[in-house]
Amino acid sequence: MSDLTRLDAATLAAEIAAGNVSAVEVAQAHLDRIDATDQRIRAFLHIDTDGALAAARAVDDTRASGGTLGPLAGVPLAMKDVVVTRGLPSTSGSKILQGWLPPYDATVAARVKAAGIVMLGKTNMDEFAMGSSTENSAYGPTHNPWDLTRVPGGSSGGSSAAVSAYQAPLGIGTDTGGSIRQPAAVTGLVGHKPTYGGVSRYGLIAFSSSLDQAGPLTRTVLDAALLHEVIGGHDPADSTSIDAPVPAVVAAARGGARADLAGLRVGVVRELTGDGYEQGVLDSFAAGLRLLTDLGATVTEVSCPHFAYALPAYYLIAPSECSSNLARFDAVRYGLRVGDDGVRSLEEVMSLTREEGFGAEVKRRIILGTYALSSGYYDAYYGQAQKVRTLISRDFAAAFATCDVLVSPSTPTVAFPIGARVDDPMAMYAADLCTLPASLAGTPAITVPCGLSEALPVGLQIMAPAMADDRCYRVGAAVEAAVAARDGRPVLAGAPVV
Ligand code: GLN
Repeated sequence: MSDLTRLDAATLAAEIAAGNVSAVEVAQAHLDRIDATDQRIRAFLHIDTDGALAAARAVDDTRASGGTLGPLAGVPLAMKDVVVTRGLPSTSGSKILQGWLPPYDATVAARVKAAGIVMLGKTNMDEFAMGSSTENSAYGPTHNPWDLTRVPGGSSGGSSAAVSAYQAPLGIGTDTGGSIRQPAAVTGLVGHKPTYGGVSRYGLIAFSSSLDQAGPLTRTVLDAALLHEVIGGHDPADSTSIDAPVPAVVAAARGGARADLAGLRVGVVRELTGDGYEQGVLDSFAAGLRLLTDLGATVTEVSCPHFAYALPAYYLIAPSECSSNLARFDAVRYGLRVGDDGVRSLEEVMSLTREEGFGAEVKRRIILGTYALSSGYYDAYYGQAQKVRTLISRDFAAAFATCDVLVSPSTPTVAFPIGARVDDPMAMYAADLCTLPASLAGTPAITVPCGLSEALPVGLQIMAPAMADDRCYRVGAAVEAAVAARDGRPVLAGAPVV
């Protein structure tokens, strides 16, 4: 077989199941690809060569002994370092967790392993998933394979870079305010944020618990659906996990690629366009809308007036929850400990450790959140933000009364240059303008590539009501097929991959 790293996950799994290639060969091809390219991309924080080859061997053994293989058995995966993995470094991009080896697997990791998926290693990310460029990692930035001088998005930029550089066909990211969709969009990938509660948070290093959600980053809509079905579903270890079957996302992805969209009512969100959006992004998005119309959908404009306040509401709620979640890094329980000389007090050691272990953005958020939650300010900031969150959910409900899905660009701009926004937090925060509403409402949303702007990828976001994740996949697969037919190739095929 020619270059195994160019195949999508569904194809690779079929070839392995048919015995045309072994899982070990597939894993080795991807490890070689990482070896050849990751000096320049820096997608991985930790590569687990032995673990990956052992997992691949186990799949080959199962097949040899006549056992049944799952639909992604033997397929390599890049795991975001926010996901706790037993015996493997899990730093969440922070210095404060350097050296910590988790004693257990997150549910997402356990399900990936049980499915026979081969985890290649842990990927770089903004520290504790706070950021939109992966530049907030304590371990240095990751580079976008489309243009090494640009960011791969964030916070799941290691996973997005790995998948778009053909280092792995599957990636796991987490999305609190956009960190699956935004990096997927700016690297030419498919990324889905599931309905809140659709994928277990057990063992994800918590950032903002009412928003955090893990999901797939892949090169095709079908691959995302296949991975979603592996990681999704009820988990008694997470009290916010939804006790209902996973929406039929694989069937939706397969059906969407063949179907037209006659009768589908698509709402274009007026508030997620216009000022602050690059012309090239708006043009690609408009071309995507034309494809939806050509497929038979009815496209109309809808207004969601409170989406304009999603950014300020998010930047009160997320820091508030992070200030509480990150209190556990107390120099006693995990990783780094600074100044423990037998003389200093516990408080001094705690303070020295947090001073040295946390980066600037994490400290900014802890201070913001502590302030917003403090007595006298709680009602004015945190309480007010929660009310805005309710108004955003009501905007969604009103829009979904007349539309089956809502659409917008996935990001206001294409991938920006490394360094361009590091000194301007507000510019950095604006990268998530389009993704924040669905995060705050807990509703599902997918991004699929819809074209290029000056040779860089643009994503189209498709939002659906809670638990209608399958709708995202159905429409996403239809758009994916229409884009490939229009351009004569998938968007990612245009990437000047390293
Ligand atoms: N960029 C947003 C933030 O910095 C979202 C991050 C995320 O989704 N993890 O908080």
